[in-house]
Amino acid sequence: MTALDTRAVHAGRDDLAGLGVHVPPIDLSTTNPLPSVEQGGDAYETFAAGGSLPAGGNAVYQRLWNPTVARFETALAELEDTTDAVAFASGVATLTAALLAATRDGNRHVVAVRPLYGGTDHVLATGLLGTEVTWARPDEVAAAVRPDTALVVVETPANPTLDLVDLTALATAAGAVPLLVDNTVATPVLQRPARHGATLVLHSATKSIGGHGDVLAGVVACDRTWAARLRQVRALTGAILHPLGAYLLHRGLQTLPLRVRAQQAGAEKLAAWLAGHPAVARVHHPSVADPAGLVGRQMYGTGSLLAFEVRGGAPAASAVAGACRLITHAVSLGGVDTLIQHPASLTHRPVTGDARPAAGLLRVSVGLEDPDDLRADLAQAFDSVDGLKF
Ligand SMILES: *Cc1c(COP(=O)(O)O)cnc(C)c1O
Repeated sequence: MTALDTRAVHAGRDDLAGLGVHVPPIDLSTTNPLPSVEQGGDAYETFAAGGSLPAGGNAVYQRLWNPTVARFETALAELEDTTDAVAFASGVATLTAALLAATRDGNRHVVAVRPLYGGTDHVLATGLLGTEVTWARPDEVAAAVRPDTALVVVETPANPTLDLVDLTALATAAGAVPLLVDNTVATPVLQRPARHGATLVLHSATKSIGGHGDVLAGVVACDRTWAARLRQVRALTGAILHPLGAYLLHRGLQTLPLRVRAQQAGAEKLAAWLAGHPAVARVHHPSVADPAGLVGRQMYGTGSLLAFEVRGGAPAASAVAGACRLITHAVSLGGVDTLIQHPASLTHRPVTGDARPAAGLLRVSVGLEDPDDLRADLAQAFDSVDGLKF
């Protein structure tokens, strides 16, 4: 198989030369002229059962199948080392479909490892989709699994603490229970969970895959059986990705390896500087702490997301976020420009108890700016806050 960087540029484009074009066409049709009642009806039945478009087949209706979305899925699956991928209108729509697909046979118990993205934590904690959750540390997963456990859910690196979880050990602990890994923060450039036993590899494609802050999307990479289940849920519940978004994501994949590595280099510099700054009590980034030695063994790098705890708790943290000028005070991550946010007030607001992020924790998604400019911006932000000026 060719290298990841090569696949990122060429995946999902095999048939373009035959079509006489160099970039993928965007198919915006919501409906398709049917060759006959019989062929239309057969195709409809295939899609309603989670099937894929057969060669020369009719797509019928955009909610059931879209060629531009399918191209992005082919490309993403190739990067994640899976046979299939299924794309949705957002990351949480993807999680919803995964939970519905995993629980469709009646088993509704989910074992989840915290910390997780706040929205994932919230949907599991509320049981809105009919699931019952048991929260477990990685070493408690094997004991938490029950006969009616439908899914084990984990995120590594975790958002917002950047904790790393050993996926091979977790897959062993999950046993026959399918394992869902949220790979949003690592991206397939830095981690391919399917190689470590993950059944479902989930992304909020809104983040690094899109990379430019202009597409809301999600995707799950998996095998053919799970893809059929997920496509059926998607056809029946209607959360397919829009083809314009799929086009932009497919284009974004071509620069994903370059962006991730350059943003990671900036994050490592910033993390090292923050770790030596007197205003900072603790830095969370795999370049600063990797107790289980997973960088190199499970991950190909440390990533572009970091977090740090300022002295002075929530008031100091919110003052720093508000005082940044070059860095934008905004949620989301993985884009070309640097963002800062306060997880306890925003992305992780619904998370309760011990799983709540520290009051003084700020999360920074490092972009492509010169790290010296980012450092200067944070330095002036610290200097502007009483108690953080040294
Ligand atoms: C943003 C995010 C999600 C949710 O994705 P949306 O595209 O916002 O719906 C899920 N997991 C992680 C790790 C995220 O950062």
